[in-house]
Amino acid sequence: MTQLYIGIDDTDSKEGMCTTYVGAVVIEKLRKIGSKLVGFPKLIRLNPSCPHKTRGNCSIAFAIEIQEAQIPRAKNIVLSTVQELAELHVETTNPGVVFYQHKQIPAKLRSFSKKVVQDIVTIEEAEVLAGEIGAEVHKFKFGRGIIGALAAIGNTLECDQTFELITYRIPKNRGTPRKVDADSVAEMDTKTYPRTFDNLDPSTGEIRITPHTPCPILYGIRGESPAAVKKAHKLVKDLEPIERVMVYKTNQGTDEHLRRAKISDARPYWSVIVDGAVCQTPRVIMGGHVIFRIRDETGEIDCAAYEPTRQFREVVKKLIVGDRVRVYGGIKEKPELPRTINLEKLAVLKLVPVLRKENPRCPHCGKRMKSEGRNKGYSCKKCKVRASPSSAKIVKLKRRVDLGKFEVPPRARRHLAKPLVRDIHVRFPKREF
Ligand SMILES: [Zn+2]
Repeated sequence: MTQLYIGIDDTDSKEGMCTTYVGAVVIEKLRKIGSKLVGFPKLIRLNPSCPHKTRGNCSIAFAIEIQEAQIPRAKNIVLSTVQELAELHVETTNPGVVFYQHKQIPAKLRSFSKKVVQDIVTIEEAEVLAGEIGAEVHKFKFGRGIIGALAAIGNTLECDQTFELITYRIPKNRGTPRKVDADSVAEMDTKTYPRTFDNLDPSTGEIRITPHTPCPILYGIRGESPAAVKKAHKLVKDLEPIERVMVYKTNQGTDEHLRRAKISDARPYWSVIVDGAVCQTPRVIMGGHVIFRIRDETGEIDCAAYEPTRQFREVVKKLIVGDRVRVYGGIKEKPELPRTINLEKLAVLKLVPVLRKENPRCPHCGKRMKSEGRNKGYSCKKCKVRASPSSAKIVKLKRRVDLGKFEVPPRARRHLAKPLVRDIHVRFPKREF
């Protein structure tokens, strides 16, 4: 027996299909010819700020054990399945398949995988790397998918990982409304959260496990372990037949796309974590988006909480100039606008005090005394009492925002963004600062 890695990417389009489905079908076919799946297949989300991304920007990879003599047949099965299922008629769908027949993942391939999640990589770079490490690439049309296919093989998920159990619909139901018992989803959430997460939107109660695209997925349950998502799956009542079920190991919900950066280093198409002080008060612009600006020792950058982030904007609006924050989010290039971080999360690290001068109270009637003018002291007209300028008190007003981390609701969250509930170090900021 020998081990073969298989990576697939860019088979879907806005109109349908899903690379995870192609993977599930391929795995079943390979099982039928006697190959054995090694561990869990991987679902790898790629740079969410990439301008060429497909619908969900996910690629898949898995390893099989197979008899050497069967390898040509296995490769044929993979390629013909991609040919058959991929949305090849859609211009932006350019699948890629990669085969890699080594036991170890070389360091070069790992760093390439990281770059594909955090930065922009060209097809040429992928081809050069494949040549260097001896990976076999197959391009369909432009074959942009070889980037994600290689990246999925090379991502070892060693820092963090989550799992997603995906159920698929039978062909005749695809494109029709999904039939899942809503009460059973709520019950599943009650019984399995936070070992599973993003099942419901906490503010609206909306079911989040069913997608809104015409793809073959009925629902996907995300969680911390295979056991957690399998338990949750048993609790969900499906009201339509399920063609197949697959559990993927994934970088979803891990923040793998984020990198720490100073403002002057932050580049378009990156997703960054930046510390800074608010230097322009948040303002609401047309469409209900909230924009503010932060500064560090290297420069200034705008931060945006867009309308779909809903109640998250209420926190953002309460920031004032001088507050210290840590922002998390992607940078998109829009030539007509200043460079902007699209907020995914926000940590409020330090709030500046808001001070107000309070006039003294009259010692006789208890009413607030009136100012007689700048540095002229205070008086009560009724009681004919006067007080010195120093009798005024400086009081600290209560800020309406707390220290801590805040996140956009699940409906506005990127697949890669780590939900706060996964963050066991939420007791920050006291510890960290
Ligand atoms: Zn008085």
